[in-house]
Amino acid sequence: MRPSVRAAFGLVLFAGSLGAATPGVDPALMDRTVAPTRDFYRFANGAFDAQPIPPERSSSGVNLEIDNRNRAILKEIAETCAREAAAEGTPAQRIRDFYLSGMDQAAIDKAGVEPLAPTLKAIAAARTPADLAVLMGRLSRMGVTAGFAFGVEQDPKSSRTHLPAVSQGGLGLPEREFYFRQDPTTRDQRAAYVKHIARMFELAGVRPGPAARVLALETRLARVSRKLVDLRDPEANYHKLDRAAVAAAAPGFPWAAWYRAVELPATEPYLDLGQPEYVRGLGRLLHQVPVADWKAYLTYRLLSTLAPYLGSGLEAEDFAFYGKKLTGSQEMRPRWERVLGVVDAGIGEDLGQLYVQRAFSPQAKAKVQEMVKFHLEALRASIRRATWMGEATKLQALKKLDSLNAKVGYPDAWRDYRTMGLKAQPFVLNVLAARAFETRRALAKLGRPVDPGDWEMSPQTNNAYYNPCLNEIVLPAGILQPPFFDERADDASNYGELASTIGHELLHGFDDQGSQFDAEGNMRNWWTPEDRKAYEAQTEAVVRQYEAYEPFPGVHVQGRQTLGENLADIGGLKISLEAWKLASAGKPQATVDGLTPEQRFFVGFAQSWRTNMRPELERTILQSDVHCPPRLRVTGPVAALPEFRAAFPGAPADRKASDAQFTLW
Ligand SMILES: [Zn+2]
Repeated sequence: MRPSVRAAFGLVLFAGSLGAATPGVDPALMDRTVAPTRDFYRFANGAFDAQPIPPERSSSGVNLEIDNRNRAILKEIAETCAREAAAEGTPAQRIRDFYLSGMDQAAIDKAGVEPLAPTLKAIAAARTPADLAVLMGRLSRMGVTAGFAFGVEQDPKSSRTHLPAVSQGGLGLPEREFYFRQDPTTRDQRAAYVKHIARMFELAGVRPGPAARVLALETRLARVSRKLVDLRDPEANYHKLDRAAVAAAAPGFPWAAWYRAVELPATEPYLDLGQPEYVRGLGRLLHQVPVADWKAYLTYRLLSTLAPYLGSGLEAEDFAFYGKKLTGSQEMRPRWERVLGVVDAGIGEDLGQLYVQRAFSPQAKAKVQEMVKFHLEALRASIRRATWMGEATKLQALKKLDSLNAKVGYPDAWRDYRTMGLKAQPFVLNVLAARAFETRRALAKLGRPVDPGDWEMSPQTNNAYYNPCLNEIVLPAGILQPPFFDERADDASNYGELASTIGHELLHGFDDQGSQFDAEGNMRNWWTPEDRKAYEAQTEAVVRQYEAYEPFPGVHVQGRQTLGENLADIGGLKISLEAWKLASAGKPQATVDGLTPEQRFFVGFAQSWRTNMRPELERTILQSDVHCPPRLRVTGPVAALPEFRAAFPGAPADRKASDAQFTLW
C-alpha cells in the first residue's frame, strides 16, 4: 500500500503536468547532469523537482496526476447522476442523493452539529465507567474510534472464519510518539493540538471540559499503547479469547455494557484482544481518570471524526490542524472533490461500476493478468534457486506462491448498498448512514464463512494491497492507469512502473509479516529454524541500510517500523525485473533516448515515485508511517540491488547504501 496520512494524499488536476503526453518512461523528466549512481531519484526525475505543489496539497507528483484523471471521471459520473432521474434503489440514485447532499453547503451549515445532538446529549449524561463503555460501543457503530478500535477480521489462525477484534486506537495525534517526543516541532504540534480541541468545542457550542484534559488523557492512553514497531509482529498482536478470558485479561473494562452497545451477538464466543495490556490499561484509566475528562475526550472524538460534515466552521478548523499544521497543505481542496472522496468511501462499488466502463478495458485487464503471471513465474524461479533456503521451507514457499490469488481491476460481483438508506437529507446523516451500513455489514459476517470475492478497496482506488489471510494481491483499476500502466507503452516501461505495485504487493506475501502466514492464509510458522535465521539475518541488513538514511538532521528512517514495506520495495523491484525479462525473452530490445532496455526499466520504476512533498508531510511520514517517503522508495531499493549496479556501472558515492547487498529472492 501507499502511505496514508490523514488529509495528506488527496489530489487535483494539474494543468501542464510534465510527462502526461508520452506513454511510459518520459525522458523529459530526467536530469542527466546527475550521476545515476549518485542520486538515481534525481537522475530519473530531476526536471520534475521544479513542479510546484498546489496550495491545497501537501505533495504533488505521479499520484496526483493519476488521481486527477480518476477524479475527473468520477466527477463526470456524479454530475451526470445528479442531473438525471434515477429509479429508487439504483446506484445512480444513491450517487445523486449522496453527492448532492454533500454539495449543498448552505444546508450543511444550517444543520451544523444539530444532527449529532442525541449523541452529544448521551455523552454529557454519562456518570459511570459502564456508561462510558456504552458510549464507546455506540460511537464505534457510528464509525468513530474512541478508546479502542473495533472491527471484524478474518481469524488469522482460521482464515476461512471471522473474528471480532479490538485494537489500540482513538488517539487524535498521528502516532504514539507524538505524545512524548520533546523536540521543538513536536512540542509546538502538541500545543497547537490543545488550542485546536478548544476551538472545536467552541465552534460546536459545547463545554465538556478543558481541552488540556483531553491531551492529558490521550497521553495516558498513548503510554499504554504499543509502539508502531511492536504492532508489526502478527503473532504478538493476536489474542483470541473467550468472554471469560477477556474479562480476566482486562478486568477494569465494563465488557457486558460494551458488548450490548456495540451489538456483538451473544452467539459469538470470541474476541481478539490485540494488545491485552492496552485494554487492561484502558480499563484502569476508565476508573482512575475523572468521568468528566472522558466525556471531553469522547466529545472530541465524535466532533473530530465528523468535522468535515458539520458545517464550514468545524470543517475549516479540522483542516487548519490536520491539513495545515500536520501535513503542510495551504488550502482546502475544492468542495466537489472532498464530497467525491466521501461518496467513494461510502458507496465505492456503485461508483466503481460506472468507472470501469470508462477507464479499464478488457484488454488492459488481460494484459495486467499476463504481467502477474510472469511475476509469479519469476518469483517461483527465484525461490527454486535460492541457496539460503532448505528444501522443506522451499516446498512450503512454493505452495504459498502457487495458491496465491490475484484480483485485477474490479470485483466479479458488485456490493449491494440498497439497505444503506441514502436519500435527500443533511450530508452528515448520509455519512452516518454509510458508516452504520459498514458496521452492520461487518457484524453480519460473524458466523459466516469468508467471502473470497470481497474487495477492501474500490475499483477506482489508486492503491493496491496484499491480504495475508486470503493470500491474495488486489490491484484495483484505479492504479492500473498511465503512467503506471499504459497499453500503448513498451514492456520495459510497464514492468518498471508497476514494480511498485505488482512486484511490491506480491512480495508482501513474503515480507517480515506476510512470511508468517501459510498457503491457506493462516498464521503458522512454515519455516525451519535455520532458514528463518538466514531470512532474518538478511532482513536485519535491510534494517541497517534504511536506518542510515537521515532525511532531516536528526530524523532517521525507522528501519524496523518500515521493514515490511522496504522488503516489498526491494524484492518487488527485483522480481519485476525478472518478470520483465521472462516476458520479453526472444523479443528485440532497443536502446531508446540513450537508455538501454534495463536502464529504461529502472528509470520507469523511479518515475513511478516522482513526488514533490512538503517537509511537514515528509517529516510526519518518517515519524508515523510504515512506508518511507517516495524518494527513499527509489534510492533504497536500487542501492540494494546488484542488478541496478550492472545496469548503471560506476562508483556509487554513497558508500553506506552501496554496501547493502540484497540476497533474498
Ligand atoms: Zn506495501
